[in-house]
Parts: sequence; C-alpha cells; structure tokens
Amino acid sequence: MKIGFIGLGNMGGGMSANVLKGGYDLTVHDLRREAATPLLESGADWADTPGEIAAACDIVFTSLPTPREIEAVALGEDGIFDNIKPGAVYLDLSTGSPNLIRQIHAKFAEKGAHVLDAPVSGGTIGARTGKLAIMVGGDKDVFERCRPILESFGDRVSYKGDIGSGTICKLMHNTVVYGLQTIVAECLTLGVKAGVDAKAVFDAIADGSVGRGTMFSYTFPETYLQGNFDPAHFMLKLAHKDVGLAMELGREFGVPMAAGNLAHQEMTAALNRGWQDRDSRVAMLLQEERAGNIEVRIDKE
Ligand code: NAD
Repeated sequence: MKIGFIGLGNMGGGMSANVLKGGYDLTVHDLRREAATPLLESGADWADTPGEIAAACDIVFTSLPTPREIEAVALGEDGIFDNIKPGAVYLDLSTGSPNLIRQIHAKFAEKGAHVLDAPVSGGTIGARTGKLAIMVGGDKDVFERCRPILESFGDRVSYKGDIGSGTICKLMHNTVVYGLQTIVAECLTLGVKAGVDAKAVFDAIADGSVGRGTMFSYTFPETYLQGNFDPAHFMLKLAHKDVGLAMELGREFGVPMAAGNLAHQEMTAALNRGWQDRDSRVAMLLQEERAGNIEVRIDKE
C-alpha cells in the first residue's frame, strides 16, 4: 500500500516521519522542497505535484495551513481530485472548514474515491512523538481501514461521525483553548498587579481543579452532560460571590477583565432565575436555551 503526504510543515513534518517509521511506503510533496530533506534521507520518495502523489498512492494525507490551500491542493489544477484512483482515500489532517470538506467529499464520491476529515491536536511535540489526538469524520468502514496508519502517528484516534464531524470537534476544541487562554491571561495579570508573585498565582491555577483536569474528568461529565445541577457540588450563590470579589479586585487595580466579567454576568442571569442553591455550573442551561433549546447530554454509562 502506497501512502502520500502533502504539507511537511510544523505538523506534517513530524506526522509523515512517523508514518515512515511505521514501515509504510511513503511519497511526499510540499511547496518547499527543502522541507522534505529529512524524509527523503530516511527513504521517502519525492513527487513534484499533489496530482503525482494522488496518481501513485492508495491513501493521501494533507496537512496544510488554511481552507484556501486545502481547496487548491484537493480540487485545483493537477491536484488530488484530478488524479485520485477509484477506491483510494484522501484524509485531510489540517484544521479546515466543515463545509469545504463536505464539498470535497461529495466531489470525490463522483470518482468512487473516499474522503475523511481527520484534524489533529497535540502540537508539534505530539506530531514528533506520535502523541496526537486525531478526530475523524466520514464513512466508518473507511475510517476503520485507515485506523492502523493513523495509529502510526496518533495515540488517541477516534471516530466522530459523518464527514465534517472531526473538523467541528477540532474547532470546538481550539475555541475552548483560546477562550481559556484569554481568561488565564486576565487572572495572571490581575493576580500579579494585586501584589502576588507570578509563580504563586500560576501554581494556584495549576494545582487547583483547573490544572488537575477535574473539570473534564468529573465536573462537566457529572453536571453539563447529565443536565444534573441538584444537589449542588458548589452552590451558584457562592461561586457568584467569588467571581464578584475577583471583579472588584480587577476594578481596584485597574485590570480589564472582559472574560471574567462575562462569566460573572452569566452567573448573575442564572441567579435571577432563582437558581442560587443549584450547582454553580447551572448557567449552562441559559446557553442551551439561547442556542435554540439544544440539550448536550450523554448516556451515563
Ligand atoms: P505550516 O505552515 O508549518 O505547514 C504547512 C505546510 O504546507 C508548509 O510546509 C507549506 O510549505 C505547505 N504548503 C502550503 N501550501 C501548499 C501547497 N499549495 N502545496 C503543497 N504544500 C503546501 O503549518 P502547521 O503548523 O504544520 O499546520 C498545518 C495544519 O495543522 C493547519 O491547518 C493547522 O491549523 C493545524 N494544526 C497545527 C498545529 C500546530 O501546533 N502547529 C496543531 C494542530 C493542528
């Protein structure tokens, strides 16, 4: 089985090296030929265009910056679509657009070729060490056929649903990362400006439930995902008091706390529903309502 890999940058360089280490027959391409040097030295073949890769390979991966490059490589002149063989599989590992990958999927089906979206998370260290989460959308049987290759560069490979589902999961993941990043930046600057040593503030966040990961291992599964906010693990009125005191500190020390104040307003709105003695996570019900009465639930089993 011949594997092709297009896009050998920060992520693609490490992932393709692990495909090669996995013993697969690998052909690579990138706009920057020098990005392929270590792979070629380790036994990979070079192709001059994405089309050449698609014509030669049974499985084609891309790891490209944005939807613009994905569209050009997948559907453009001498791209993958023009040259892919019936029965072959194209997997996009980039973080792209769910609508674009659905269009690509439909177009490739005209030729009897398969498409999976398989964005990754774990950064360049994960790409180098084979410790990536890979979130896959598309036909489940095709996914199962590709799973062994995905496991050559990812240690958490999971099927997410129809085409586009992997990308939606990845976009949700990254939005959590950058939302969290914003509020951590607010709290570190406020803590330091309020007179505490930077390491002490940082360690407080890292040692508490945030850094321990308790929110994801216990709190969210028990509350958000069950719609269960009673009895309270921690009452809304007490959490509202804590964030309120922090926002007062922000005003006292002149530190803008946009994300912190937004969280406080959410909790205030939940208090106004009479939910003061319910669990502090109960503001989730307001967001479910605003989202169009969406219920985010999973089976407790
Ligand atoms: P990058 O810019 O380092 O690599 C992209 C590679 O694609 C480059 O080597 C570039 O030369 C090549 N390329 C661009 N256009 C091309 C074309 N038309 N034909 C052939 N090659 C082309 O980017 P990256 O950080 O490796 O990210 C790749 C994707 O992975 C992005 O969608 C990114 O959002 C996602 N991602 C990145 C990280 C990260 O930590 N860097 C983590 C997870 C996901």
